[in-house]
Amino acid sequence: MVGSAQSGCQIAQELYQSGRRVCLCIGGTGRVPRRYRGKDIFDWLLELGFFDRTVDDLPSPQAKFAGNPHVSGRDGGQSLNLHQFARDGVVLLGHLRGVSGETIHVAPDRKESLAKADAFEREISGLIDTLIEQTGVQAPAEDLPVLRDGYDADEITELDLSAAGITSIIWATGYAFDFSMVKLPIFDADGYPIQKRGFTEYPGLFFVGMPWLYRQKSGLLVGVGEDADFVAAAIAER
Ligand SMILES: Cc1cc2nc3c(=O)[nH]c(=O)nc-3n(C[C@H](O)[C@H](O)[C@H](O)COP(=O)(O)OP(=O)(O)OC[C@H]3O[C@@H](n4cnc5c(N)ncnc54)[C@H](O)[C@@H]3O)c2cc1C
Repeated sequence: MVGSAQSGCQIAQELYQSGRRVCLCIGGTGRVPRRYRGKDIFDWLLELGFFDRTVDDLPSPQAKFAGNPHVSGRDGGQSLNLHQFARDGVVLLGHLRGVSGETIHVAPDRKESLAKADAFEREISGLIDTLIEQTGVQAPAEDLPVLRDGYDADEITELDLSAAGITSIIWATGYAFDFSMVKLPIFDADGYPIQKRGFTEYPGLFFVGMPWLYRQKSGLLVGVGEDADFVAAAIAER
């Protein structure tokens, strides 16, 4: 499997739990615990205003393309942890760099990516702890499990697919936009529409439903309606 954002991790988990051998090329997407200190993580993230952050809060325009953190809604919701994957027998690899013949070439950055996921979890749980402290809300103490298994395996930089018995590759590396039907010069170098809160400089042309269009939640079910309301109101006014 290639890609370890939300979809990649969820698919990899289903595959190995159904008895398949899985090798997973990972990136630096973060991880959040499904539940923390007595509440579902999404309740905490909503309270923290995490999804209300706007594009202006991002460190770079490209940051809006980062994958969503590892977590799953399966079986009522559960945490996903790459270290647990490694403990359960998944072979974790770094970024896929290229393919020659039947050999894949992999960057030696697996530990770096795992460290990013670990750091993200620490950051988010730290923000929640601070929120609890500041608001004085009652919440049980919790120490998240600290797993290290993903760091322990040998670094693999080349893998012969036949020798490893790999017969299928699943790409979970995201998707690209296709705005070929829009014949106007309104896309930036990343192919993302140049707009503010869905409004382009062309009267009558608006966007909604894209990740980080205005807020983080613009590309989520919890936020797309709010953006659509805003744009629809402006259209009605015209
Ligand atoms: C893999 C994946 C997982 C996701 N998981 C979650 C999640 O767990 N929680 C969450 O909140 N959000 C999730 N999202 C995001 C969520 O799906 C979107 O935020 C939401 O669907 C956006 O709504 P929308 O109506 O703007 O666009 P869409 O739901 O994409 O609807 C656009 C519609 O327009 C149609 N269309 C496109 N072009 C044309 C055309 N030329 N003419 C006519 N019709 C056209 C399409 O067929 C489609 O029906 C996920 C997205 C993806 C891709």
